[in-house]
Amino acid sequence: MTTAVASRELNSLDRCDRCGAQAYVRAVLESSAGELLFCGHHARTVEATLRPMTSEWQDETARLHEKEPVSVDD
Ligand SMILES: [Zn+2]
Repeated sequence: MTTAVASRELNSLDRCDRCGAQAYVRAVLESSAGELLFCGHHARTVEATLRPMTSEWQDETARLHEKEPVSVDD
């Protein structure tokens, strides 16, 4: 098994697939190597279901505590 998608740091251009807020979690699906992006909130929402199906779960939500993001989530 190989990791086809190189790891990279998420930035402000990365947006949650669910709500469009800044993404802090990047999930790579094991089956398709497709990439999904989630904000902290939605990452928590889908993690239990989605994470077992991913080959990579890149969690940068720790950065949320360093700097309060300008969020229009909700
Ligand atoms: Zn979201």
